[in-house]
Amino acid sequence: QAKAAGRNRFQRYTRQMSAAAEERVLLERYLRHAIEFKELEVHFQAKVDSGSGQLVGAEALARWHSPALGMVAPIRFIPIAEESGLIVALGELILEQTCQQLQQWRTTGFDVPCVSVNVSVKQLELADFPHHLAALLHRYQLPASALELEITESVIMAVDNAIDTLNAIRALGVKLSIDDFGTGYSSLAYLKQLPVQVLKIDRAFVLGIGNGQDNEAIIRTIIGLATSLGLSTVAEGVELQEQIDFLYAEGCQTIQGYFYSKPLNPIAFQQQWRSLNPASPQTQAQI
Ligand code: C2E
Ligand code: MG
Ligand code: MG
Ligand code: MG
Repeated sequence: QAKAAGRNRFQRYTRQMSAAAEERVLLERYLRHAIEFKELEVHFQAKVDSGSGQLVGAEALARWHSPALGMVAPIRFIPIAEESGLIVALGELILEQTCQQLQQWRTTGFDVPCVSVNVSVKQLELADFPHHLAALLHRYQLPASALELEITESVIMAVDNAIDTLNAIRALGVKLSIDDFGTGYSSLAYLKQLPVQVLKIDRAFVLGIGNGQDNEAIIRTIIGLATSLGLSTVAEGVELQEQIDFLYAEGCQTIQGYFYSKPLNPIAFQQQWRSLNPASPQTQAQI
């Protein structure tokens, strides 16, 4: 009897396993198709100055609306893209769509100062990635300062000659930031060697503001670290006024989160931010 129960448990287990594995295979197949036929699109989430509330930039985020599956969240398709290698083509698509959108906005007088794009370790491992980046900037006639790349700590440590690649990117004038900072294990000495300008404070710490001392202490430490290394900070996942108050008081310059705006499609983003952007003709003094 014990044996039969064990067997049942085993069968249940393998059935669940294969259902998950099947779903994975299916998603991968659909994703491959979606990338090839450019079904993915880029949305933009505002980054705002913590003191003035002005738009200082945006983050580009991949969105996938599959005709067959409906909306698929990045948390479901990004890991599959990473494991299958599709992330290179996906990242490429999002990077190009971002540059194209930035150029198009510029022709209408809407200059978003700087847009960051998430970059995977697999992209950084491509020897010609910095060249490719330079070619994109050239093709869309964008200044390098219009672009920033977000890289996670674990990613940086996983690439052999990451520092060389990052230096080459930095030499172009493209900014680099460390995403989800505080969740990885990079040492101070290592951080000092990296040509990054921005630390993004992970949403998990922001969530803890007002709920006990630990997260607040971690945020203070990250901001202090950034200040002493000459870097700036962006707080992710900010939803509440009290979080902004805390971050501003502690010296975090830039806020990103639902409090100001969710990620929006390009049309909605321009509608929401155009009139608030001092660089846009609408609010400039008429000469
Ligand atoms: P991330 O780069 O840390 O992006 C921030 C995530 O936090 C986004 O989730 C954003 O929608 C969400 N977020 C922003 N503000 C708030 C807030 O106030 N509250 C809450 N609850 N969430 C907020 P999203 O778009 O689902 O993306 C998840 C992750 O997928 C990203 O995390 C990034 O690691 C990855 N990802 C998205 N697009 C790309 C891409 O084009 N390439 C690569 N390699 N990764 C991507
Ligand atoms: Mg990011
Ligand atoms: Mg992040
Ligand atoms: Mg995050």
